[in-house]
Amino acid sequence: MYGNIWKKRDRKEIKQAMSEHVRVLKQYFGYDSFREGQEELVESILAGQDTFGIMPTGAGKSICFQVPALMMQGITLVVSPLISLMKDQVEGLNQAGVHAAYLNSSLTMGQYRKALGYAKEGRYKIIYVAPERLVTEAFLDFAMQADISMLVVDEAHCVSQWGQDFRPSYLKIVEFIEKLPVRPVISAFTATATKEVRDDIIDILLLRNPKVVTTGFDRPNLYFAVQSPKDKYASMKNFLELHPNQSGIIYCLTRKYVEEVYKRLKEDGFSVTKYHAGLLDEERKVNQEDFIYSRAGIMVATNAFGMGIDKSDVRFVIHYNMPKNMESYYQEAGRAGRDGEAAECILLYAGQDVVTNQFFIDNNKDNQELDEISRKLVMERDRERLRKMTFYCFTNECLRDYALRYFGEYGSNYCGNCSNCLTQFENVDVTETARGIIGCVESSNQRFGTNLIIDTLHGARTVKIRSYRMDKNPYYGELSKVPLYRLRQVMNHLQLYGYLRVTDDQYAIVKLTEKSGAVLDGKEKVMMKLAKEQVHQAKAKTKHYRKEVVAGFSKEEFTEQEERLFEKLRALRTEIAGEEKVPPYIVFSDKTLVHMCMVKPETKEDMLTVSGVGEFKYEKYGERFLKCVREGQV
Ligand code: ADP
Ligand code: ZN
Repeated sequence: MYGNIWKKRDRKEIKQAMSEHVRVLKQYFGYDSFREGQEELVESILAGQDTFGIMPTGAGKSICFQVPALMMQGITLVVSPLISLMKDQVEGLNQAGVHAAYLNSSLTMGQYRKALGYAKEGRYKIIYVAPERLVTEAFLDFAMQADISMLVVDEAHCVSQWGQDFRPSYLKIVEFIEKLPVRPVISAFTATATKEVRDDIIDILLLRNPKVVTTGFDRPNLYFAVQSPKDKYASMKNFLELHPNQSGIIYCLTRKYVEEVYKRLKEDGFSVTKYHAGLLDEERKVNQEDFIYSRAGIMVATNAFGMGIDKSDVRFVIHYNMPKNMESYYQEAGRAGRDGEAAECILLYAGQDVVTNQFFIDNNKDNQELDEISRKLVMERDRERLRKMTFYCFTNECLRDYALRYFGEYGSNYCGNCSNCLTQFENVDVTETARGIIGCVESSNQRFGTNLIIDTLHGARTVKIRSYRMDKNPYYGELSKVPLYRLRQVMNHLQLYGYLRVTDDQYAIVKLTEKSGAVLDGKEKVMMKLAKEQVHQAKAKTKHYRKEVVAGFSKEEFTEQEERLFEKLRALRTEIAGEEKVPPYIVFSDKTLVHMCMVKPETKEDMLTVSGVGEFKYEKYGERFLKCVREGQV
């Protein structure tokens, strides 16, 4: 009998607590509901359990720790690797009416002391801190006395040597936790999904029986495309002309490419800036801000740009070169469309990209402190990753499906929003070409790499061919009528489907497999899906974007009047951003403005129903936006 009463009470309390965190979400961030995974993570943290969230970029990781941070008794510390990221998040929080600060090397000694002083007085609810600060005397002095409820490890993959961006200073986190008088709840977040890295994070951070939540890696609002244009620049320029006034990032593999592309775009009159590790700190900072504050529309950059860039209205990410692996690609491409609106991710492939990446792998200086065996392992792993990346560029299957499978998820094999799904394919019998390739591999005793085999079949007259006497090979020139790109396609197909394999070492020798013989003997046909006609760049547009799969709103349905209103609201946002000295998307996201155009709020109550408008922001700007909507109606 008593037990029952308690149970009821429990449930009621739980329900109250639940509605409490939805209320916090609404009040501070202006959102009505949690996205997939968020609520589970919030609840786990609030229940005092160590928590580990693995979510793709743009899924909304920050909310998962910011909401509980606001509800917990004490202070939340957030360890974050990048200054730009901290600044952005803290600005966002301050805009939402949350007292937050960051402690990193961008502050002068005086500012740092002052901030720590305020922290000691308990002025901040959330404090972002650089990992290398954690075990400094000044910080420890504060931390030992403070009431720390939670420690958040953002970009937690930085703790793993197997990760993309290993940072030795992340190892200080554990040291720091061990020094604390009371162990706070630990939560960790990352967008990197591979199992090795996941296990590493749990082990190294010593998470205690953590609740692990992984949300799907699919980003339905992103359109994926691969193109192999003869003239990359012309093709990209064409794309940019079709997307005026949009924010976008162009990733290049090397600084040289960045400089080159930047220069040409500038000469062609685009609003463009650049970023790579070779620029001075100051220039990098200015350029990054120009992009974030939308003073420059296009950012041309190496992969040094982007981790933690929270600009939510990036409408396209073009890869001018193929990156080194799928992890990098998905992460970089994923910087498009964080606001949930349609965005495009286009990869421009050329054979040279493979060569350049191979060179980077063979000359990777980062691995020098590793012992011989580990270094070899890392190199083999990198080569394998590069191969999988290359296959992405050659597959005729759904690109999204390919990526999701790479990360261990099962998608459907048709997404309707990638260049492959939108291309008409036909099944072509490529057995003759396949036999030629396999025959050439066999007759040269499985001693050569892909390029030499293809050159032989095509009858190239190179020094290499002559020095290996491949011009005497029975298959020399045998497939000279088949275009080179087709030979390469079939070669890749044969590797992807196990008719041939490539050795893991740096020589990448093509070898036969148990499946090779059947093709050579004519017992097995090789069928391949090939495009009926090459789609042109210009056709591959957002229009194909499947709206129904995205829970949200889209500008595409706008009337002309709404379109005008949107521009007005945008102008107001820019004005306010200027006054507040924050990037426009910190004031309100594009998505919020789009929603505002649809709701056309007349009163405060209406305005608070707009996604992204919380109480605090309403108090600050609500009236001005209401006025703008009113005027936009006439
Ligand atoms: P991540 O860190 O996972 O890349 P962010 O935390 O930057 O993603 O969130 C991406 C965007 O999604 C931000 O603009 C954020 O305000 C928005 N967002 C997060 N959670 C929600 C939600 N529950 N409803 C609507 N928008 C959300
Ligand atoms: Zn698809």
